[in-house]
Amino acid sequence: MKNKIILSTILSIASTPLFMVNMAQAHQEQAFAIAIHGGAGTINKSKMTEKKRKAYEDKLKEARDTGYALLADGKSSQTAVIAAIQILEDSPLFNAGKGAVYTFDGEHELDASIMNGKTLNAGAVSGVKTVKSPIALAEAVMEKSVHVMLSGEGAEVFAKQQGLESVENSYFDTDARYQSLLKAKKQLAEKEKELKDFQAAHQTLNNEYKFGTVGAVALDKSGTITAGTSTGGMTAKRFGRIGDAPIVGAGTYANNDSCAVSATGHGEYFIRYHVAADICARMQYQGISLEKAADVVINDVLVKAGGSGGVIAIDVAGNITMPFNSTGMYRASKSSNGEEFVGIFKDD
Ligand code: ASP
Repeated sequence: MKNKIILSTILSIASTPLFMVNMAQAHQEQAFAIAIHGGAGTINKSKMTEKKRKAYEDKLKEARDTGYALLADGKSSQTAVIAAIQILEDSPLFNAGKGAVYTFDGEHELDASIMNGKTLNAGAVSGVKTVKSPIALAEAVMEKSVHVMLSGEGAEVFAKQQGLESVENSYFDTDARYQSLLKAKKQLAEKEKELKDFQAAHQTLNNEYKFGTVGAVALDKSGTITAGTSTGGMTAKRFGRIGDAPIVGAGTYANNDSCAVSATGHGEYFIRYHVAADICARMQYQGISLEKAADVVINDVLVKAGGSGGVIAIDVAGNITMPFNSTGMYRASKSSNGEEFVGIFKDD
């Protein structure tokens, strides 16, 4: 008798409109999605053969779909972001991990960061030379150290302590990036002669030398967003230069109260205009959509300042936006609402 009463009470609550609305909301809250990028810059459409385009798009899809499958399986956005980025780090096509650009001195110095939008915990590394997966090291800094950012040799010691895979610096070598270095150094030498100033000469290196950074943002079924970014920085960088990618708020930012962003482009501008955090702050304080906030920062603020590049961004409702003000940005996305995208140019 008692059980019957309990059962009928449960059934009557379950059929109330309020209960049904809550269930519908719970169902909606299970939305999940991922967006990734493989860098923005001057990507010459006329030089993009079908074969080359396919190679890029296939790799982007592989990274995106790997992250998406993890999310579908109920894994965290942090796990999905790391998995997607590691696929791009391992590919010689992108300027992160294998295939990273060369410094002026002919080495590779890698930067990466990750941020979790629920805990606001973040981890970053800069100038590492022998860590195979800089994004894995950034995650270890976030999870296993009391710090947010480690650099250079200290970061490498920490990576060893954490048992992360290390490689020779030459592991990151590719001929295409080496040719870019030679070209950049030739241009630098000519301009330095003309302008009698190395820094002014450096200013003339165009976007062709700085695309290919990789990043991912994701929303998981629990409603948490995460952002991560990994890069070799800019070709012919010197004096231990560090870009925006490992700087929380500049190249990477995530906050469940607003959005998660991973950036790519001319790092000096992204640092000074704290691009990733600015997009999230505009959304939160101005009450505008993610799309609007990202569009203003990339296509207005940065354009006026002269900073080229783009971002991928996601909010807790699963909205995704991927604006850029350069000729192209390698990018892909997939949402549990059935939408998916892969492309390079504006009209893709
Ligand atoms: N933002 C990176 C940096 O300045 C480069 C890039 O995104 O291509 O180091």
